[in-house]
Amino acid sequence: MEERGNISIHTENIFPIIKKFLYSDHEIFLRELVSNAADATQKIKRLSSIGEFKGDLGELKVVVTVDKDAKTITIADRGIGMTADEIKKYINQIAFSGATEFVERFKESGDKNQIIGQFGLGFYSAFMVADQVEIITRSYREGAEPARWICDGSTEFAITDAEKEARGTDVILHIAQDSEEFLEESRIKTILDKYCKFLPVEVEFKGEVINNPTPIWTKQPSELAEDDYKNFYKELYPFSEPPLFWIHLNVDYPFNLTGILYFPKIKNEFELQRNKIQLYSRQVFITDEVKDVVPEFLMLLHGVIDSPDIPLNVSRSFLQADSSVKKINTYVTKKVADKLTEIFKKDRATFETNWKDINVFVKYGMLSDDKFYEKAKDFVLLQNTEGKCYTLEEYKAQTQANQTDKNDQLVLLYTTDADKQHAFVEAAQNRGYDVLKLDTIIDSHFIGLLEQKLEKTTLKRVDSETIDKLIAKDENKESVLSDAEKEDLKKIYEQAISNQHMMVEVEPLSPNDAPVVITLPEFMRRMKDMNRTGGGGMMFMGDMPDTYQVAINANHSINQRILKAKDENKERIARQAFDLALLSQNMLSGSALTAFVKRSVELIDKE
Ligand code: ADP
Repeated sequence: MEERGNISIHTENIFPIIKKFLYSDHEIFLRELVSNAADATQKIKRLSSIGEFKGDLGELKVVVTVDKDAKTITIADRGIGMTADEIKKYINQIAFSGATEFVERFKESGDKNQIIGQFGLGFYSAFMVADQVEIITRSYREGAEPARWICDGSTEFAITDAEKEARGTDVILHIAQDSEEFLEESRIKTILDKYCKFLPVEVEFKGEVINNPTPIWTKQPSELAEDDYKNFYKELYPFSEPPLFWIHLNVDYPFNLTGILYFPKIKNEFELQRNKIQLYSRQVFITDEVKDVVPEFLMLLHGVIDSPDIPLNVSRSFLQADSSVKKINTYVTKKVADKLTEIFKKDRATFETNWKDINVFVKYGMLSDDKFYEKAKDFVLLQNTEGKCYTLEEYKAQTQANQTDKNDQLVLLYTTDADKQHAFVEAAQNRGYDVLKLDTIIDSHFIGLLEQKLEKTTLKRVDSETIDKLIAKDENKESVLSDAEKEDLKKIYEQAISNQHMMVEVEPLSPNDAPVVITLPEFMRRMKDMNRTGGGGMMFMGDMPDTYQVAINANHSINQRILKAKDENKERIARQAFDLALLSQNMLSGSALTAFVKRSVELIDKE
């Protein structure tokens, strides 16, 4: 028998278009053909299990072979196979209708970027790499004759009789000249590893099974031990440190989704890795660009999501609006929040130990998702300079009595660098204040969020004001200096410092406080930060130098001495006291530092 025919489509030659524009990644042909083979194999298994097929199943492997001399790649399965009629129906009509629709849309739109990747053409993606495709197949049906289909990439095909003993389908690709790279076995192996690693049917290449047909996400959590999860993580990311913990996702209503999400150990913030979640559809790898499928902040997680309900072959904008994608987003977010709540409640010690690895993630989530904030506000931790962790509630209770100012605002103090801001941290602690460590990149945003969400609460960096003003209490501070003396002192310092970005003020600090305290107002620093990170539209702040507040402690004995010192010594002592303040904040350098050292030596020498 030989039957020739014309594939009934209106477009003359769709193949050049398919070949050029369907996928930017031609390698996808292999994913499509191997998953078709796996589907056919699963179908025969099912038919057998319900008694529709009574024959011997045999070894149900998909075998991929490359013949470099013949320039062919063959994908062979022992699935249900096809009769000649089925070829006509499934290959000529069904598969082609997809191709036709693709081309029609392509012609309409004219914008290839919009169309590329929108369609999964399945079988016809073979023509991206082959100039001739052959199917030799034998249906599982009793008495079915084997058949051969051949098509050279035009719209013409031929169906002939064929010789084939075994049930199943061989798809033989005659690789086109410009695609010969796919005749390299190493290339094929790489593609199989990428897309077929967890295909549900064994796939053999060069005598070896290359996949794990039953990855753990397809199993029930009750069947799995901790090591199974850890080993799977290692399988996915061979070079990563072990994960902190994980969530096994498993829903079948109102959408279908399984998967495992891991919380990675984060070594440092600059290493945050995105695109570590792999997206599968029925165990076939689709992409590791999960943008739009999971919320942005969850992209810091690692692992696998498998869902046949994610419409994979549609455009981005559609994906964002897709209702099942939205539901998946909500579900995954809720699961993650629930898991964190559970660990926090069950094992707070572990939660605290892991906090340094998960805090960025949790804060990012709170900032970007209100629902997540609502759950996370009960387990988000604040850590103080002593390393103690508190929840928001606990911390409020801890600080309220001592850190509420005269306007009934709770003032929370923080440091971004406990080492550099040590003098201020210590001064705060001497007053019995607690100081938080908020030193990660996300913290500046997190601080804003806390102020927005927590009532009557302000956050201030320890070095943003002198200790008395930081948390202003209703106390009248006595100054030992008269107003005239204060005015004198101010002038002496202004001349000694002689810098327009240092705003000098004489203030009645405690005699135990430093003689000079230099601060950068909180609002000023925040504006600068905002400007630096591109927000706020404060363009004019760009080149503006910092304007510091210099508080001269009226009650410190040094400052009283300056007023009594000989005229020629006044400025020298003031400069020395000011330099000491600069020094304690790592702000003294260059010629100022040299002058300071020289002056200090002279002073010691006098003693
Ligand atoms: P899809 O797989 O999305 O249905 P394809 O274009 O990949 O689209 O395939 C079209 C049809 O051809 C399949 O639905 C199936 O019925 C049939 N088919 C393809 N490959 C095989 C195979 N290896 N064995 C049996 N039938 C197949």
